[in-house]
Amino acid sequence: MNAESWDLVVVGAGPAGATTALAALHADPSLRVLLLDRSDFPRDKSCGDGIAPHCFEKLASIGVTGVEDGWTPLDRLELARGEESVVGTMARPVYVIPREVFDARLVERAVDRGATFRRQRVGSVADLPDAAVVVGADGAHSVVRAHLGLGHGRRALAIRGYAPTPPDRRGTQVIRYGERRQPAYAWAFDRGDGLSNVGYGELLPADGEGDPPSRALLLDQLEQLLPGSVAAGEHWKGHHLPLSGWRWEQPDGRLLLVGDAAGLINPMTGEGIYYAIATGIAAGRAAVRSRQQGGDPGALHREAVRGMLGRHLKHTWVASRLAEYPVIVDGGIRVARRDGQVFDQLVELGLGDGRISGRLVRGLASGLARKGLRRIRPGGVG
Ligand SMILES: Cc1cc2nc3c(=O)[nH]c(=O)nc-3n(C[C@H](O)[C@H](O)[C@H](O)COP(=O)(O)OP(=O)(O)OC[C@H]3O[C@@H](n4cnc5c(N)ncnc54)[C@H](O)[C@@H]3O)c2cc1C
Repeated sequence: MNAESWDLVVVGAGPAGATTALAALHADPSLRVLLLDRSDFPRDKSCGDGIAPHCFEKLASIGVTGVEDGWTPLDRLELARGEESVVGTMARPVYVIPREVFDARLVERAVDRGATFRRQRVGSVADLPDAAVVVGADGAHSVVRAHLGLGHGRRALAIRGYAPTPPDRRGTQVIRYGERRQPAYAWAFDRGDGLSNVGYGELLPADGEGDPPSRALLLDQLEQLLPGSVAAGEHWKGHHLPLSGWRWEQPDGRLLLVGDAAGLINPMTGEGIYYAIATGIAAGRAAVRSRQQGGDPGALHREAVRGMLGRHLKHTWVASRLAEYPVIVDGGIRVARRDGQVFDQLVELGLGDGRISGRLVRGLASGLARKGLRRIRPGGVG
């Protein structure tokens, strides 16, 4: 056997890539899987570190459990914009686990399961060793995506740091919406070990439509929304977020895209780890299925991801467009405060693969009818 001939080569070993390898080896332990990353693990990644319960459920479906061990579950969520706020208990807890820990644990599991990890910066798809299937899990600036000629949709830019958790924010995920280009919000997620992940992000202007926000501006917005965070914080790190759109694209062929490389971050909340894990599992399974039963890997992957997320992505696209109107965000917060079921449904839409519910639409409509639609104005000053 040629050592440089693989069944599956995965470019990028973040949650999307490591999960691709784990899912493929779960389906077929004899598969020859090469996992490449430009960094050794553990490595840091700019992120809010919020890991939705849906991630653990998906990982359990491929036999991966316990990656959250030693970290504290957290079930309180506060959503606020200006004077409006709702604080509720989420039906299932999230975990806030530094990516330096979480991602390294997944890579370790993939290697334990038989994947070969190699540190290598991939400059072009042509440089890769021979493989039946190549998965692009190389994040927001994916080389594999560029090779496929796919552009990118809307993007956000966010910065995060770590700061001591004030006593009144223990056990809570706080999200405070700002006034600039939506989605724009600050967060403080308690890790449970005395520190919180704090940060701020906002939508980037489209090409040619203005300058991206500077680091100073992002930190200034964070300070306005969560006073005291900037002086208390350290380890600041920023990164792009490729937000999902109305329709998700995956060409036929042997090159599959997952996670951020596939342009999959929830445009309402900036959450992408769930999609990374869910699409990683789909890609790993598509690689095995095409090998065992034939069929085009790209087509199999496209079908699986659209079946799983297609309608949800349309709903989050609509929700994120509606959230450009502050009156709708305020209305949503009020409805969630009155109605626990709507609160739960918003959590599912923002963290998992939920939909816009009839109950939320009815609640919003009756609130807007009372307040008068003329108060709607476009959000963000850009
Ligand atoms: C500030 C911020 C806050 C966020 N907060 C949250 C949150 O709280 N919860 C949530 O769910 N999501 C959050 N996200 C989104 C989340 O970070 C991403 O969706 C997630 O990291 C996607 O995982 P991935 O595996 O696709 O990509 P990544 O985690 O980016 O992993 C890609 C990997 O590919 C490697 N790589 C890249 N290029 C190459 C190359 N050319 N050759 C070899 N290797 C390469 C990188 O080293 C990296 O390890 C946030 C994002 C940002 C920026």
